[in-house]
Amino acid sequence: YAKGGITYTLKGGKVQNNGKIIYLTFDDGPAAYTDKLLGILDKYGVKATFFVTNCYPKYRYDIRKEYNAGHAVALHTFTHSYATVYKSTSAYWNDFEKMEQIIVQETGRRSTLFRFPGGSSNTVSRRYCSGVMTALTKQAGQKGLSYFDWNVDSDDAGSTRTSSGVYNNIVSGVRYQKQSIVLCHDVKRYTVDAMDSVIRWCLQNGYTFRTLQPGGYTVHQRVAN
Ligand code: ZN
Repeated sequence: YAKGGITYTLKGGKVQNNGKIIYLTFDDGPAAYTDKLLGILDKYGVKATFFVTNCYPKYRYDIRKEYNAGHAVALHTFTHSYATVYKSTSAYWNDFEKMEQIIVQETGRRSTLFRFPGGSSNTVSRRYCSGVMTALTKQAGQKGLSYFDWNVDSDDAGSTRTSSGVYNNIVSGVRYQKQSIVLCHDVKRYTVDAMDSVIRWCLQNGYTFRTLQPGGYTVHQRVAN
């Protein structure tokens, strides 16, 4: 794992740090496979960022586990329902605050990091409220919140439905970026099952893993509504 920023060791030897950073991000959970994922991340000492929801309230306690393990806990709305959150800006922030309260209850801290359902460039929101993304992205800044899109997509919420597919998408995606914000979903079993191989490949090839930070590296896609 990352040590001193120069070299790190993986069982079997030292690897030269290639200067490239990977921010693994996991959306929509916590859910059934989150606990397994936390075990895999722990095994390699890798820290990730979780954009959490209340879609699977049974697994809510995993938010606390994520936080206590040193991962970044970030918001991804309470309902993750496009029709609910994108009805208006006030509907969005009402829903957002519900999730914020759960995070405070589980971690004792507010989070100022978030990701819009569908990303800031989503056009589905147009169906519910014209211009809502333009207004929300502006208001986020005024509220002191940082939102994050991605520049590497595992496509696990798209047409990729296998661990080998997720692995190939990530490994081929991070090669082209100095800093990669990788979109993944811990609600998908095949994604969690891919992570051991993904992390191993990245460490063996000199990448460093970090968590997203307020005011730190970000990717913003072009707002289209
Ligand atoms: Zn999502």
